[in-house]
Amino acid sequence: MNYQAFLIKYGEIAVKGKNRHIFEDTLLSQLQNAVRRVEGEFHVSKENGRMYVEALSDYDFDELIGALTKVFGVVGICPMVRLEDEGFEVLAAAIVSYVDEAYPDKNFTFKVNGRRARKNYPMTSMELAAAIGEKILEAFPEVRVDVHKPQVCINVEIRNHINVYSTEIPGPGGMPVGTAGKAMLLLSGGIDSPVAGYMIAKRGVRLEATYFHAPPYTSERAKQKVIDLAKIVARYSGPIKLNIVNFTEIQLYIYEKCPHDQLTIIMRRYMMMIAEHFAKASGCLGLITGESIGQVASQTMPSLAVTNEVCTLPVYRPLIGFDKQEIVDISYKIDAYETSILPFEDCCTIFVAKHPVTKPNLKSIKKSEMHLQEKIDEMMQTAIDTTEVIYVEP
Ligand code: ATP
Ligand code: MG
Repeated sequence: MNYQAFLIKYGEIAVKGKNRHIFEDTLLSQLQNAVRRVEGEFHVSKENGRMYVEALSDYDFDELIGALTKVFGVVGICPMVRLEDEGFEVLAAAIVSYVDEAYPDKNFTFKVNGRRARKNYPMTSMELAAAIGEKILEAFPEVRVDVHKPQVCINVEIRNHINVYSTEIPGPGGMPVGTAGKAMLLLSGGIDSPVAGYMIAKRGVRLEATYFHAPPYTSERAKQKVIDLAKIVARYSGPIKLNIVNFTEIQLYIYEKCPHDQLTIIMRRYMMMIAEHFAKASGCLGLITGESIGQVASQTMPSLAVTNEVCTLPVYRPLIGFDKQEIVDISYKIDAYETSILPFEDCCTIFVAKHPVTKPNLKSIKKSEMHLQEKIDEMMQTAIDTTEVIYVEP
């Protein structure tokens, strides 16, 4: 089938009252960004509260749909056949052959929805629907009409062109990225944090990211993996500014000065502080992590409370109530899983204690951190000053 245009359905954003045009304009520009990355020429437009993507050249259907299904705010994508108005008989014949091609198995119930958006068309919407329905029944005696619960709904819209569509590919839902401010994702090479970033971006939030690496304990390949994951998340969120912090000195210093069962927690607190520094510097309104209650020692409620204590910005933890399998399912869906499970060490696995505390006590953690007093401020400053910045494009 040759689909020349696509109707873009959007849901949640349509109810936003006065702000509606901001949401629509953002969606429009996100659709434009998406098609720019697809080979071919496209035109994105908004007409009477509907959005269309029109193909102006040859294109690959799967590639285009792949791009459009990553635009948050899109609820459904209806591939449309565009016809010129050459009279009713020609139209009816074209729709019959559309049905023939789109539904090789004719065992279904259907209904025709007529929509006369161009008022000088000689038939009313109802007359058009009835007449087309009759032609379809004539051509395919096996199909049946069901106006209440049809299995197939054939939409015929009379505009300058005539649009025919009957299928809808689900979109990702959510809100267009750019309608809700910006947040800083703590992005590691694992399964969870890319999913956390995806989920917050889905609510319309632009992302920035910070990764802590510890060369030579973590390799260049581990760093490349994080860049690759940022790239995967960026297909949904748009470009991500990625801060790569060299965390080795700080980690070794903590390792030298603090009880080993507290390493992970103390390290986490410094990660949060540094990430928050970058977040504030670039106007982010919150931090994002991939934590989930009880998943590991550093994610028990007491551990999360102690980690959280150093933050002044809100920390968004979209996976907080998810089981691992639920997170893995989303990771698969967004195509991050294969990359996330590549076996490169991350900085936490190397310095991890055999028996980390699961019920850290804030006072005791703070007491341990006193041992870092001499050099930690300077080290944090050096880590910030030597941070490498990479602009990750989808
Ligand atoms: P993930 O799969 O996201 O790595 P995880 O199950 O390995 O998570 P932890 O290692 O305890 O869990 O990390 C919890 C969260 O802390 C991560 O989801 C991430 O947001 C952040 N984090 C951990 N390590 C790093 C790192 N090296 N750089 C940046 N953020 C990190
Ligand atoms: Mg991890």
